[in-house]
Amino acid sequence: LSGGLVERWLRLSAERVADARVRLTELDAAIGDGDHGINLDRGFRAVLAGLHGGGEPVPGPELLRSAGRTVMGTVGGASGALYGRALVRAGERLADRPAAHGQEVLDLADAFEAAVESIAALGRARPGDKTMLDALLPATAALRSAATAGLEPEAGLAAAADAAARGARATIPLLATRGRASYLGDRSIGHLDPGAASSALLVRALADAASS
Ligand code: ADP
Ligand code: MG
Repeated sequence: LSGGLVERWLRLSAERVADARVRLTELDAAIGDGDHGINLDRGFRAVLAGLHGGGEPVPGPELLRSAGRTVMGTVGGASGALYGRALVRAGERLADRPAAHGQEVLDLADAFEAAVESIAALGRARPGDKTMLDALLPATAALRSAATAGLEPEAGLAAAADAAARGARATIPLLATRGRASYLGDRSIGHLDPGAASSALLVRALADAASS
């Protein structure tokens, strides 16, 4: 998987997280502690600062691993550990496999799946718990079916982004049973989960980076 795509994705994500900072923070203020947008923005600024300025291009797996370490060290909160681990895991998964032509959509599906599995393993949330996984699991499934069907990466990622957006919206009526929002009990119902919203944003940025 090319370092070019990973870098475009990280840059676009940083831009969109900055734009969505207030919205994500408001979502988290409703059912959490109001730091999600601020935390992610701080992390993505640090990721941007760590990107090379010219010189030797950095391979995709290494970019992902270093972005993940930066996110772990700067974001804080549940999402910092979960997103940071996921990025590192995606990088590891890609580094494990030899580069070959024509398998980009399979590489993407494998890396995406490994990242999302690491979030599930670390956070022990299940589908329907009203977390980022409710956006990420449908996105993983959509990308996997696209890869199996032999679709182009752009089409697979667009389907994944649509699935993530639908999954995020579907968290509104759910009762939170994991993370800080679960402390609210029934009062978590009727609100969009902030982590599901940021996940949908990040997957859309990936789809847009792939098609630009
Ligand atoms: P914190 O709750 O520690 O302040 P953030 O505000 O950065 O962390 O992120 C909150 C988001 O993290 C939630 O909206 C939810 O999507 C996600 N989250 C929290 N706990 C878990 C978990 N155990 N598994 C998966 N996602 C989780
Ligand atoms: Mg929070």
